[in-house]
Amino acid sequence: MTSKPSIYGLTLEAMSGWLTENGEKKSRAAHIWKALYSERVSDFSQMTAVNADCLQLLQERFSLNTMKEFVKQEASDGTVKFLLQLHDGSLIETVLMRKKYGLSVCVTTQVGCNIGCSFCASGLIKKSRDLTAGEIVEQIMTVQHYLDAAGNGEKVTNIVVMGIGEPFDNFEHLINFLDVVKDRKGLAIAAKRITVSTSGIPAKIRAFADLGTQTHLAISLHAPNNELRTQIMMINRAFPLEKLMDAVRYYLDTTGRRIMFEYILLSEVNDGLETAAQLADLLDEFKELASINLIPYNPVDEHSQYQRSTPEAINGFYDVLKKRGINATVRMEHGTDIDAACGQLRSKQMKKDKAAV
Ligand code: SAH
Ligand code: SF4
Repeated sequence: MTSKPSIYGLTLEAMSGWLTENGEKKSRAAHIWKALYSERVSDFSQMTAVNADCLQLLQERFSLNTMKEFVKQEASDGTVKFLLQLHDGSLIETVLMRKKYGLSVCVTTQVGCNIGCSFCASGLIKKSRDLTAGEIVEQIMTVQHYLDAAGNGEKVTNIVVMGIGEPFDNFEHLINFLDVVKDRKGLAIAAKRITVSTSGIPAKIRAFADLGTQTHLAISLHAPNNELRTQIMMINRAFPLEKLMDAVRYYLDTTGRRIMFEYILLSEVNDGLETAAQLADLLDEFKELASINLIPYNPVDEHSQYQRSTPEAINGFYDVLKKRGINATVRMEHGTDIDAACGQLRSKQMKKDKAAV
C-alpha cells in the first residue's frame, strides 16, 4: 500500500501553508477540507470543487487511504471493532462504541506499547513505531465512512484515546491529531467530548496542562501504593506515585479542570477492602475535582495470573469509596463477545499469523 503521508494529518492552517508553498491559492484549503470532512470523499477524484492542477498536486504528495480493513467484528450491543492494516503491514485496532450520549471511537496511537503493563494485551508487543497524526485521524474517518455507508446519518461524536499505545509517548502527533478533529470547519468534535488516557508520564501531564485545552485527561492508576503499582505497571518504578500526584496537582491547579482516574479491578490483587480504603486516602485531597472509574478486567490469555474481580468484590470496593465521598463509577462494558479490550484482537491475530508460518 502507499507510503505517501495521509492527507488527514494536516491542520487547516498547515494545508493553507502547503498550498501557498506550492503556488496554489490558500483559499482552496477550505474546499479541500469541505470535501474531506463534510462530503467525506473516499477518493481524490470525488473532490469536484477542487481544480485539476491542484488535485494532481495533492494526489502526488498525499494519500486518502493509507490503511485497509483487515478484520471487522460487530458485537450484539452495536460495538464494532476494526483491525486495520497500515501501509507497512502493521496491525492496529479502532473501536466504535454506542453510548447513551453518542457514538464514541477508541483510537490507537502507537504500533505496540513500550510501557509493558503486566495485565495488558497491547504491551505484549513492543512498540515498533508511533502513528502519525494522519494515521490517527484516518481511524476516525474509517469509522465515519463505515457509518456513512450505512446511510443512517450517524456521526462520530466522541473520541477516547485509549487504544493500543501510550499517547503521551507520541505527544506531538497526538496534539496535531486533536487539532485536526476539533476544528470547527472539519469534524468539529468538541474538546470536551474527547478523553486522552495516560499511564502517567509526569512531564507530559504538565505539558498537556500548559496547552490550556478543554480535552479531558484520564490517568491509569490501578493501585494506591508504590509497591502494588510497580508490580502491576512497570512505569511506576520510573515515575512513582509521589511524582505522578505532583503532576496531577499541577494539572488541576493550572487548568481548573476535572480529572479522571482509571482503576482496573484484578481479583485478589488490587480489589481488597483495605486497598480501597488506601485508595480513598490517596484521592481524598482531590475529592472535589476527581472521579474514579472502576474497570472490570477483561482477561488476557497471556496474563493468566490476573482474573476479573467478582461482582461482590467490585461492589465492596465501590462502597468503600462512596462512603468516603469519592466520586466512583463502574465502567459499562462494550463488545465483550468480540475481544473488545485494548489490543486483544490484534494480539490474537498475530498469534494466528505466527501459527501459520
Ligand atoms: N496507554 C494508555 C492508554 C491506552 S490503555 C493507558 O494505559 O492509559 C486504556 C485503558 O485500558 C487503560 O486504563 C488500561 O489500563 C485499560 N486496559 C488495558 N488492558 C485492559 C484489559 N485487559 N481489561 C480492561 N482494561 C484494560
Ligand atoms: Fe501500554 Fe496502556 Fe497497555 Fe500499559 S495499559 S501496556 S500503557 S497500552
